[in-house]
Parts: sequence; C-alpha cells; structure tokens
Amino acid sequence: MSTEKTEKIKIARYLAIEKRPYLAAAILTMHIVKNNDCPTLGVSKKWVMYYNEDFIDTLEINQLAGIIIHEVSHLLREHCIRAEEFGIDEKTHDVSNVAMDCEINDDLIEEKILKEDGSFPFCTPVKYGFEDNMTWEYYYKMLFKTGQVQQCPCHGNGSGSDGIAKEWEDAEGNGIDKAEQDLAKKLTAIDIQKHVAQIGTVAGQWQRWADEYLSPPKINWRQQLAMSLKSSTIYVSGNTDYSYSRPSRRRIPKVVLPSMRSPQPKIGVVVDTSGSIDQGMLTVAVNELKAILATMSIPTVRVMSCDCEVQSDQVVSSLTTLELAGGGGTDMGVALHEFDKNRNKRPDIVVVFTDGYTPWPSEKPSFDTIVGLLSNGDEHCGVPEWAKVVKICDE
Ligand SMILES: [Zn+2]
Repeated sequence: MSTEKTEKIKIARYLAIEKRPYLAAAILTMHIVKNNDCPTLGVSKKWVMYYNEDFIDTLEINQLAGIIIHEVSHLLREHCIRAEEFGIDEKTHDVSNVAMDCEINDDLIEEKILKEDGSFPFCTPVKYGFEDNMTWEYYYKMLFKTGQVQQCPCHGNGSGSDGIAKEWEDAEGNGIDKAEQDLAKKLTAIDIQKHVAQIGTVAGQWQRWADEYLSPPKINWRQQLAMSLKSSTIYVSGNTDYSYSRPSRRRIPKVVLPSMRSPQPKIGVVVDTSGSIDQGMLTVAVNELKAILATMSIPTVRVMSCDCEVQSDQVVSSLTTLELAGGGGTDMGVALHEFDKNRNKRPDIVVVFTDGYTPWPSEKPSFDTIVGLLSNGDEHCGVPEWAKVVKICDE
C-alpha cells in the first residue's frame, strides 16, 4: 500500500512536469518526503515537500499534480523570504498562508491546473471578495481590513510558505541548500524565457516572475548618478599626463618620479529650464548632485540654464546659489556646444538635467556627458548613445 502511494506521488510529479515543463528544474530539485505528522502536504524552507499518505489517497492524480505545482510556486515566489520581510509570526502565519494561496491559486484555477471538485478547499481571491492577480501582501492586508481573518482555514502549510518552521519539519536534516535553491530558480526562469521565445506564452504570472528574477538588481538613481560621475572622473584622471609638478613620495635616489596626481576634473552642469520641466524633481536632482560633488571635493562648477538658448552661465561654489532662467522651447545641444567652444574653459564632464524633450548634437562633444533624465516613463527620449543616462524618478 505504502509503495503504491510513493508511486502515486512520483507519477504526480512527472504529470506536473508534463503540464508545466518550464517548472521542471524546480519540481525536480524539491525533495519529496513522506511524513504522516504533516496534516496534508507542505514545503519547507529547505525545499522539502512533505506529504501525508492518507491525504494524497483522497486526491485524484491530476489534482495531486496541480498541488505539486502549487507547492513549488510557494518556493519560486520566495514566499518565506517575503514573509520574514513582512514580519509574519506565529500569530499571523495562518492568515498569511491564506493570502499566499490566493496569490497562487487564482492563476492555477484559471489555467485549469487545479479544479474545485470538493476534494480540497482551495483559497482563492474570489472566495474572499477580492480581485485576482494581486500579491499575497495585498490579500493579507485585505483579510484584516474586511474582518475575514477568523474564517481563514489552517491547511498545514510549511515554512517554505510562511517562514515558520513546523514541528513536523526536519529542520536540520533533509533539504536543499541556498546555492542549489538559487540555481533551481535561475534555471526555471531561463526555461520560462526560452518557452516564451519558442512557443509564445506561459501561464499565469510566470513570465513577469522570470523577467524580474533574471533582471539585474535595481540600483536607485542616486547611486547611479554618483557612480556615473565618479567613474567618469576616474577615467578623466587616468587619461591625464603624468605631472612633474609634485614629486612622488616613492623616491629613488637622485631621481624624481612623476607624480600620479592629476588636476581636479572640471565639471559642468546644464539645467533644462524649458516650460515642461517638473520643478520638484529638478530640485531633488540638483540637491543630489550638490551632495555628490561635496563628497568628491569639487570646489566649483560651471552651470548653464538653457531652454532653446543659454539663459545664464555662472561659475558657482554651491549649487544652491543657482539662478535659473528660461521657460521657452528646448535645445540642450546649444548649451553643450557652448561648453565645447572654448578649449581652456572646457569641462571634462557635463551633467545635463532634462526631461529629454530636446534635440541633441549628432556628434559626441569633447567631454563626457551624463544625462539626468527627469522622467517617470520607460523611454530614453532619443538621448544619443554617447551620453550616459541616469533616470531620475519619483521613488
Ligand atoms: Zn499553499
């Protein structure tokens, strides 16, 4: 009898892979362990799926395959990490489990992976009067807000969903370490992207999950602006000829080595003062630049305000003393050209703050250009390739 049930779970696992081939890496990485102390079926943080023999006996094989896909969804969506970040504890984990199941099951029912045949009471957003396709964190808040927390059933989920280790889990022994979990997630995300490229679609929210999982970590614009400016500065310093003006500390008798010190890079700033500029975002961006320049000990900067003409051109020691004028049409190329005109006064790097609705010179100026794009959109607004773009956005 017991062998039959072991076979049943194995067959269900293969059936799950057949239904969702792009989840195979994750489904096969999970350990499957019989544990009759587990009330139904649940996953641990260590990627062990425990099952109760009597429980799986009640399920039809397709339904069991659907539940395996449900369980692996908890792991791939990193519910236990999100639960910890959200502060889920012993008192709130049952409610969080209902919310997490809502996040998963609306997709699985729509795709007919799970069927409401009465064998198992699935939690879905519609049962609680919520809309589909939201995050579990949203459903969790809504369960409290609508006073439905008392009606949350306890299905015996494991720490792989709510992050709380259950007494029936083998916390020390069985399981997969983090590196293997990460590898399984990465392979699954790659398989999803391949499936999309070859066949066209994947079910539910998987494509978005894969794209987000594989995209590089988000760096906020403040870090990006500082990094762009500092890397350009290093490049400028590296290009500077050795200077004999200060002797090196590393002396060789009777020989004065050239110093590695290079002159302070000259920095220019262009502020787009055309009518369309969001003043709030501009103030935040200029203040950020001021803070970055202070950390780099840059004593003065040359600042131009420009709409379709250069309206002001000042050398300032602090960006807070700026006088900005303008309000007409837009052409940032005019200011860049002005910076490029006089060889002696030419900066090494120019930062342009603009919303991007401007023409640009076709040729790269003779200095590095960083465009601080004051825009919440995704577009780069035709900024040429020779400029580095940092999107300044509301956070
Ligand atoms: Zn669940």
